[in-house]
Amino acid sequence: MDRSMISVDRWSDGSQAYFLTHLHADHTSGLSPEWNRGPLFCSRITAKLFPFKFPGFKLSLLRVLEIGQWHSVSLVSRTTGSATTVDVMAFDAHHCPGAVMYLFRGEFGCMLFTGDFRWEPTSTRAQIGRSMLLNAIGNDKVDILYLDNTYCNPSYSFPSREVAAKQVVDVISSHPKHDIIIGIDSLGKEDLLIHIARVLKIKIWVWPERLQIMHLLGFHDIFTTKTSLTRVRAVPRYSFSIETLEGLNEMRPTIGIMPSGLPWLVKPLEGNTNVLGSSPSIFCHGSKLNVKGRSPMYMNKPNGNCRAVERYHEYMYSVPYSDHSCFAEIKEFVKIVQPTNLKGIVSSSSSYVDPLYHFGRLLGEKLQSQCSYRNFDRKGGERVEAAYTKSALRIDDSSKAGKKRSRTKGDDVLGVQASSRVRILRRLRRGAKILELD
Ligand SMILES: [Zn+2]
Repeated sequence: MDRSMISVDRWSDGSQAYFLTHLHADHTSGLSPEWNRGPLFCSRITAKLFPFKFPGFKLSLLRVLEIGQWHSVSLVSRTTGSATTVDVMAFDAHHCPGAVMYLFRGEFGCMLFTGDFRWEPTSTRAQIGRSMLLNAIGNDKVDILYLDNTYCNPSYSFPSREVAAKQVVDVISSHPKHDIIIGIDSLGKEDLLIHIARVLKIKIWVWPERLQIMHLLGFHDIFTTKTSLTRVRAVPRYSFSIETLEGLNEMRPTIGIMPSGLPWLVKPLEGNTNVLGSSPSIFCHGSKLNVKGRSPMYMNKPNGNCRAVERYHEYMYSVPYSDHSCFAEIKEFVKIVQPTNLKGIVSSSSSYVDPLYHFGRLLGEKLQSQCSYRNFDRKGGERVEAAYTKSALRIDDSSKAGKKRSRTKGDDVLGVQASSRVRILRRLRRGAKILELD
């Protein structure tokens, strides 16, 4: 079959139904206000935010899926012309507002697409999601698990968001005279900001568009656009850099906090803008990072192998607050789902390893023989990326889309690639055509 029936986070022509996991840009690449290819299924919160993100979008195309309820979608086989039905259920992915994973069931079998997710062992929301998911799977076998493999590498070990949020508060409290800036995206990390506001009894500044999103999400009292009301400002990730902080410190003492599960990646100092290039030492997993001759300092000692707060510049802290599951959580997820096959939805990363390499042994014997280790070729990241896209995973490619995004705002303005390192990890669009019924 040359065309699939259903697409998830993928927006090109050829499918009969389209599913959106959440509104982060790497999942909506290809969507626009003019998009008109079929019904678009999403969660209620995503539908609420949709007109803000895509003003002018034909809202009659949106279909809201309630969490935890089966929904039937009627499709037509392209080759036989016969009618067929797909049942789908959405689950809270606990990633950013509105983010869901989808379980599909039909004559093709049973497939689970996680989108981006974080299910911490200590999270009540995750526990509810887990039991809802296991109930929905019942005695079936998940034939293919499409997995958020962002941190699918044992080196990615970080604490729960609850612990990391306390670390952020500790950093802020230990700088009572400083202004604080925190780098965030246009959606996500709301819980962190709310925690800071409640514990420290302060408001948080956000930029005007972000304030509108906060209001749409129902947060009316905590956030402000008046700088005079607070010393804590949440700023767009792309505007967050050492250079910005150095400039701010000429006016007022200011520190920056970047909440992320990613290790810091420092741009090569001279000339080479290929951040995937030939400087393996630029990757830092909680130690040995040295920026402009300064030694790293720790707020806390790392707990085991778990990343802790890093102060790697006199004005900059990195806190391992992540909306993606860490390696141990991904492993636990694969264990409970026990799929027959497994595919990563992120097809390129700075330390990409096929999820089957780590988790193949958790699946059937047949798959163990397919496990392979695609080590990152530091001399040719782009080549490996391209080669990988053509290999075992059937994720939709898109070196073109990735390159397009890599030119977006933010790449050029950061001396430290706080923004770019995220983009590198997500260069390729995450969507997939997942159901081939014919
Ligand atoms: Zn996301």
